[in-house]
Amino acid sequence: MLLDEERIAMIVREVVKQLQASDGTTGRAGGEDGIFSDVDAAARAAAVAQRCLVAMSLGQRDKIIRAIRETGEANAQHFARITVDETGLGRYEHKVQKNINAARLSPGMEELGQLVQGDDHGITITRRAPYGVIVSITPTTHPTPFVINHGIIMLAGGNTVFFCPHPRAQRCSREAIQILNRAIVAAGGPPNCLVAVKEATLDVVNAACSHPLVDMVTAAGGPGVVKAALSSGKKAVAAGAANPPVVVDETADIARAAQDIIRGAWFDNNILCIGEKTVFAVDPIAEELVGHMKNHGAYLLSADEATQVTRLIVKDGHIVGDWVGKDGKVILQAAGITPPPSTEGAIMVVPYDHPLVKIEQMLPVLPIVIVSDFAQGLKLALESEQGFGHTAVIHSQDVERISLFTRTMQTTIVVANGPSFASLGIEGASNFAHTIASPTGEGICGPWTFTRQQNLTMAGGLTFA
Ligand code: NAD
Repeated sequence: MLLDEERIAMIVREVVKQLQASDGTTGRAGGEDGIFSDVDAAARAAAVAQRCLVAMSLGQRDKIIRAIRETGEANAQHFARITVDETGLGRYEHKVQKNINAARLSPGMEELGQLVQGDDHGITITRRAPYGVIVSITPTTHPTPFVINHGIIMLAGGNTVFFCPHPRAQRCSREAIQILNRAIVAAGGPPNCLVAVKEATLDVVNAACSHPLVDMVTAAGGPGVVKAALSSGKKAVAAGAANPPVVVDETADIARAAQDIIRGAWFDNNILCIGEKTVFAVDPIAEELVGHMKNHGAYLLSADEATQVTRLIVKDGHIVGDWVGKDGKVILQAAGITPPPSTEGAIMVVPYDHPLVKIEQMLPVLPIVIVSDFAQGLKLALESEQGFGHTAVIHSQDVERISLFTRTMQTTIVVANGPSFASLGIEGASNFAHTIASPTGEGICGPWTFTRQQNLTMAGGLTFA
């Protein structure tokens, strides 16, 4: 018998009441649409919500996922505006697109099909089961798309999420959590499927990761947060830093390569971890490549201008925080350069030992190193990636070189003949994700990553053989 919606809602209310009684928590415990004053109350509420979520039918869970998608997309502009206002990073129109992509493209329950195996002895059904409450430590670079993406992929697997947003992106993250929670409840789901606490601090992150009701930790960010996730004592999925190199050889479609590189590197002012960070162009085509890049909003810096810009944005081997995610024109003007109005970012031809080659510069200034041939480009690309194992891009029509590049780079993502974002289901045949887990090896993370295997074996009785 199919349960009608009113009956499902009644069962959910009953389950919530019973769980709250047994846990001694109200489930809300002072929470406002998922936002709590302390870690313990947030974790308890998320644990209650999780048990309630898995007590619901899969059809009902699917309805909740649809509500997250629709609400994420309906709020794409609002989320983009409050993110730019709070973080000062990136470009409004690209942030709108990122929210829409997260809402539309994040994989859902369809990824979690069951497997049945049968022989003379009976059958085994394998399904993907939830972990429980997952702590998600999110970066400053895409706070609201992370809330949408992790909301979809983690709830699809029957988990609930305890978000620990970056302190500089906490207000927009909290607002996205509250809006999505209201949509989840309106779709018949339990309250507090997504939780966070009012203040985002490192103490909160540490307390959340070690809370007994938290079952798993996932983190996206630099080395500090990867270490924090790996030392949490819980099952951890860590998505770390990157420095994606691009190799362009003489067989490539140079006009297209130039356009793809610029589109990837300029997207949201290059704050994506997958974004193109250094180009290695073989000598015979380097000038042509630069010429085409200039047609796509790239301002070619002279040697003196490159020195001015480098002095402005690099201090003690690090990018000066004030310039991360800023518009190309703003950076150039601050360096005393007046670029044409159509300028979206800058390119500079530099030697390999230029600081930007090895720094993950999350801003639209792109160094280009001219190499003698493909072999040298490959060697330097490997070195400059520095073992992050994250993303690398090649533009070449030579399939053997593409294979060699892929085998040598050993990155989670390799893109051939496209912009870096082609690797995430945007103009490329792949899955969409915001979490590229290279250090722990899960790669492009989806619902599968946040579920575990569960088997039901029926010995005898049911045989297909
Ligand atoms: P960040 O490392 O400054 O912060 C990321 C998150 O970790 C924040 O929530 C922050 O509060 C927390 N954090 C930082 N240090 C911590 C510590 N010692 N203990 C506990 N928590 C800590 O990174 P960011 O500047 O916000 O984001 C940019 C970085 O994230 C880039 O390096 C980028 O490549 C990386 N990133 C990677 C992925 C991926 O999928 N691999 C996705 C997004 C961003």
